[in-house]
Amino acid sequence: MAAPYRPYVLSEVKHEADDVRSFVFTPADGQPVPPFKAGQFFMLRITDVPGLKPPMRSYSAARAYTPDKLRFGIKLHGNFTHALFEKKQGDKIEISGPYGFFTLAENNAPIVLLAAGIGVTPLMCMAEELTQKKDSRQTHMFYSNRELTDAAFMDLLAEFAGKNPNLRLASTLTCEVPPKGWEGECGRITTQMLRLHGVDFELSHFYFCGPKAFNDAMQAMLEGEGVAKERIHKEAW
Ligand SMILES: Cc1cc2nc3c(=O)[nH]c(=O)nc-3n(C[C@H](O)[C@H](O)[C@H](O)COP(=O)(O)OP(=O)(O)OC[C@H]3O[C@@H](n4cnc5c(N)ncnc54)[C@H](O)[C@@H]3O)c2cc1C
Repeated sequence: MAAPYRPYVLSEVKHEADDVRSFVFTPADGQPVPPFKAGQFFMLRITDVPGLKPPMRSYSAARAYTPDKLRFGIKLHGNFTHALFEKKQGDKIEISGPYGFFTLAENNAPIVLLAAGIGVTPLMCMAEELTQKKDSRQTHMFYSNRELTDAAFMDLLAEFAGKNPNLRLASTLTCEVPPKGWEGECGRITTQMLRLHGVDFELSHFYFCGPKAFNDAMQAMLEGEGVAKERIHKEAW
């Protein structure tokens, strides 16, 4: 069932990468943010921009739950995001949710988070939730971008990995020539890359989100490795 829209105030906007901003919204009705699980998404609605049809879009929570603010990572794309990027601190929008079932399985199996581009948001939220809860599950996170300038939230992810001894982070760039000094991986996320980092294909639960081509490649890779469909979790945008 659809949750009602509630008013929120834009309290902070931050540059995170080329065309990517983080947006922080604070409830304007004095009520706390509704509880949600990492991986879930919200509907954002802008009603004061004429001609914006439809006036809403879906966005995954990018940061773990706090009762006083909702945080998103959003890439500039088309009509809605252009309207959103025009918003200033103090402006109001409406938000409803949470929605969705792309959440961490409740078991003790190791976790593998596979992210590409702005698809990192729900997976970063999962990494933060696991860190906050001091979850003991062995977690690998792989984050793929074309260029380093596209790669949002690298500092934040490194911070989570620094705090969480069970979280191992590997970033990869798919451009032909990585920037000088780059110490991460190069090339697309493959079975070989995962094996090199010690991923257990027999037991792990895999979560992925990215552009359609990335999701298709991850699905094919995991099926090719014989990963049972119950252990494959994806978010398609
Ligand atoms: C579950 C989910 C989570 C997402 N999380 C993020 C995120 O964290 N960060 C991020 O940058 N993007 C996210 N997206 C993508 C986001 O919803 C938008 O599609 C994207 O921002 C482009 O919107 P736009 O209007 O700027 O672009 P446009 O090119 O104008 O629109 C993009 C697409 O949205 C389609 N659309 C039409 N009606 C609706 C509707 N009612 N609701 C949603 N889409 C509609 C349009 O047909 C078009 O194909 C998510 C999408 C989904 C489904």
